[in-house]
Amino acid sequence: MGGVNSDVLIPILIGVVIVIALAIIVPLLVSGSRKRSRTTYTTTRDADDLPPGAPEDDEGAAAPGESGAPDAESPAGTAAPAPATTLERPEPVQGRLARLRARLAKSNNVFGKGLLALLSSEKIDEDVWDEIEMTLLAADLGTDATDDLMLQLRARVKVEGSRTPERVKEILSEELLALVDPTMDRSLATERADEKPSVILVVGVNGVGKTTTIGKLARVLVAEDKDVLLGAADTFRAAAAEQLATWGSRVGVPTVKSDVDGADPASVAFDAVKAGVDAEVDVVLVDTAGRLQNKSNLMDELGKIKRVIEKQAPVREALLVLDATTGQNGLQQAKVFSEVVNITGIVLTKLDGTAKGGIVVAMQRQLGVPVKLVGLGEGPDDLAPFEPAAFVDALLA
Ligand code: GDP
Repeated sequence: MGGVNSDVLIPILIGVVIVIALAIIVPLLVSGSRKRSRTTYTTTRDADDLPPGAPEDDEGAAAPGESGAPDAESPAGTAAPAPATTLERPEPVQGRLARLRARLAKSNNVFGKGLLALLSSEKIDEDVWDEIEMTLLAADLGTDATDDLMLQLRARVKVEGSRTPERVKEILSEELLALVDPTMDRSLATERADEKPSVILVVGVNGVGKTTTIGKLARVLVAEDKDVLLGAADTFRAAAAEQLATWGSRVGVPTVKSDVDGADPASVAFDAVKAGVDAEVDVVLVDTAGRLQNKSNLMDELGKIKRVIEKQAPVREALLVLDATTGQNGLQQAKVFSEVVNITGIVLTKLDGTAKGGIVVAMQRQLGVPVKLVGLGEGPDDLAPFEPAAFVDALLA
């Protein structure tokens, strides 16, 4: 009997041990592999995209691509739900330019200080006027605006008599403000109209900061209590859609994107606006790719995107994003885009870098449309509505 028992007992014991071992090992393997695939995602472009203390690898935070975004090919695509996560609260928008003025002043020192010193000279002879002119041109004001400002300054210096530094600053401030033109309407169309969302198309050459700007703008709108949806129609640059979805997920804004590499951008734009109409959001922000090598391609692509969007809702704003550090080269880009799209506003990025403040005036003159927003850093809330008085104030700080 005893021999029979051990013959049966040993296989049973081995079986039990195997079952217990499997029960321990399998869940470990599964969670291990999930963790591995999770960490292969680049949830942000740069680690410093996140504000201090923000959860970088929060299990709840959505990794782009996990959010169930619809394939743009699917005609009835719906927006990827904004993932459950600890949402960031964007900074209030009011007075941002004034708060960020130190960055502007840093990059534009040459403009204000040099000019003030020259205009305060006891005697302004032709040599000094030449220097003033050079300073204005070096500040990227452009020749037209420089000529206008020179005329005004000469006239005012003539009638002024004695010029204290304070008075010179006042004069310069008034004249610069007139050039920047405080009468231009710089508001953004962010209200629903005719029961449709406001669609904002964002265009510009790759690398100028389009995707970043849309991410920051989504935060500005969220801070103003708007319902926002993003459309990732820059299908040219592989990482752009994920980059955009990451920006959105941080503030609970859904992104419609395609999981297919090189998908038709118009199809993604169509799905995004459709999702925005269905979800009754206030604003749909549509990112685009900007390849300038071939103007007719650009024209075809942007034209098609606009046409398919307008089957559902009008494009209320076409914002042209320009890198302020490219100075006069940016003017050439502005020219090409304005021939392709009806630009309603300019976003000048990287004004915190080596850019010169005069570029604001030059861009506005070139396009005949206002600068509506300025980028003053890579941080999430470093986008400010453009306020002429605060801007001039910072230039002459
Ligand atoms: P896109 O190709 O036009 O979509 O450009 P991205 O949005 O990817 O931006 C290109 C680079 O410019 C990124 O490294 C951004 O962080 C940076 N950038 C964007 N806006 C600003 C800004 O206002 N200031 C600074 N310093 N960098 C910026």
